[in-house]
Amino acid sequence: MNSEQNAIAKIGKYLSESKRAIAFTGAGISTESGVADFRSPGGIWSRYQPVLFRDFLTSEDARRQYWKMKKEGFHELKMAKPNDGHRALARLEVEGMLAAIITQNIDGLHQEAGSRCVLELHGTSRYCLCLECGARFSPDEIQERLEAGVEIPLCTHCGGLLKSATISFGQALPADVLTEAFDLSMSTDLVLALGSSLVVEPAASIPLQAKNNGAKLVIINHTETPLDRLADAVVHQSIGETLSRVIKNLGLEPQLEPAAGSGQPAVANN
Ligand code: ZN
Repeated sequence: MNSEQNAIAKIGKYLSESKRAIAFTGAGISTESGVADFRSPGGIWSRYQPVLFRDFLTSEDARRQYWKMKKEGFHELKMAKPNDGHRALARLEVEGMLAAIITQNIDGLHQEAGSRCVLELHGTSRYCLCLECGARFSPDEIQERLEAGVEIPLCTHCGGLLKSATISFGQALPADVLTEAFDLSMSTDLVLALGSSLVVEPAASIPLQAKNNGAKLVIINHTETPLDRLADAVVHQSIGETLSRVIKNLGLEPQLEPAAGSGQPAVANN
């Protein structure tokens, strides 16, 4: 058995033995669906300066810039579909082998694959929100207005500022979601850290806290991470391929029946 087969066998064994496994996912699981990591070269932040939340609130220029970036992001993410990695996690949840997913991603691809218990640390691009009255708008509707030449879309109910329901720079992470994620890290016995460089804080400390609390730690990521040396199994390969092999070894099929309401496309990024 080579080291990769060995790691895949170990991951399967850990999943079978675990009582309360969780997954922690980052951009790497979605790049396999063609969603560019916006931090990487060619990603949206190499072409646009991210708009700080404070600037968004106070400057019309910043809002114009924000929606210009969104217009491009909406289109890119609308094309993205869940891959084998998302599907494998959805299958594990259905089988009772995965309690929750904590994600740094905003693309909604976990839900589209059929996962139910998903904590989104950075919000979601699946809808836009009026910052005044809280009304929700579909990204499709907003995109239509942007493409018709509107530079800064406003709420059609109250005229308030609209924004994607993602967390911007300078905006606090949602406290309730963060608390729940850290609670999970204290109750889990197995963390699968997938496609995250494990450097963006405070999110990256979730798998570390779990490990320090006695959980097993599995890392699947294309490149090395600072936590590799602490992990119980590490694979530097495609997440989709690796998880497909893991669940095949467990005798499971990756594909779920399409979930009700999963027809809504994933959109936008921040
Ligand atoms: Zn409103």
